[in-house]
Amino acid sequence: MTMNPSIDISYPLDTLRLDTVNRTDQVTKTAGGKGLNVTRVIHDLGGDVLATGVLGGFHGAFIADQLRQAGIKQEFTAIKEETRDSIAILHEGNQTEILEAGPTVSEEETALFLKKFQELVQRATVVTLSGSLAKGFPSNFYQQLIEIAKTQNAKVLLDTSGESLKQVLKGKTKPYLIKPNLEELEGLLGKEFSLKDLSAIKEALLAPIFTEIEWIVVSLGKAGALAKHRESFYRIEIPTIEVVNPVGSGDSTIAGFAYALAEGLETEDQLKLCMATGMANAQERRTGHVDPAKVQTHFKKIAVKKIE
Ligand code: ATP
Repeated sequence: MTMNPSIDISYPLDTLRLDTVNRTDQVTKTAGGKGLNVTRVIHDLGGDVLATGVLGGFHGAFIADQLRQAGIKQEFTAIKEETRDSIAILHEGNQTEILEAGPTVSEEETALFLKKFQELVQRATVVTLSGSLAKGFPSNFYQQLIEIAKTQNAKVLLDTSGESLKQVLKGKTKPYLIKPNLEELEGLLGKEFSLKDLSAIKEALLAPIFTEIEWIVVSLGKAGALAKHRESFYRIEIPTIEVVNPVGSGDSTIAGFAYALAEGLETEDQLKLCMATGMANAQERRTGHVDPAKVQTHFKKIAVKKIE
């Protein structure tokens, strides 16, 4: 699900010059938004995936066309306002971004989307909710989707931050999995954590706001992850790899977990697959893509340890 997709535009420049014209012939434009990264990576892994959310105007049509060309199934709700652009200027080793807030979705469009979601979820075993909500959606919108998914026994993997995450954690129906990184965990609990003290991170996952969430995967970038499944804790250690572009590795981790769930893998293999998928994404130039052969190679080198 991508509730605020974008066309991700990247401009590589040798030097960014201010207050004058910068020219480039190397632009790339891709269907973006965290949910679409998840979609693409599940597709790369060979999973049966369908993309949904809202798309508007010519920008929305561009995204729909890109998905069509990639052979990815889609059922979006059309909205009147134009889908946004997200611009990244890559210059002198820096990444300067210009992010549009995007369209405002009307009440009528929200109702249409909810109707579509109710139909789609009947065919889904796993639902991933990623990223921010477009303006106009109520702040408890993810909570509403989680409640609908629950009625159809679809498992919801939620990857969002800030207020939308806090809202869901306050709600009565919980997602099946959340995947905060360290910064997001700090934001949720108002505390600082360090990779040097994993036991403090483990302890933090016992906080009342996390009660009844079956899986919490705290992803730690190149340091792997720490996970809680029901009453058990796991430390996942990953080998050092050569990294090309780690953006979207968190989305790829969600994709790997969704695929592992749909395939019915055992707990430790679920963890290995989600980490291996995040790692494989970090080795691609394009955001939200994996080479399944690399995923398999990494999978074999990952160690999962149950911790007390
Ligand atoms: P993003 O917001 O960029 O999608 P994130 O902060 O949500 O990322 P990370 O913890 O950075 O998520 O990455 C998720 C997983 O991807 C890690 O647990 C790890 O398996 C893999 N990964 C990310 N960065 C690296 C890296 N530099 N080296 C090896 N693996 C990595």
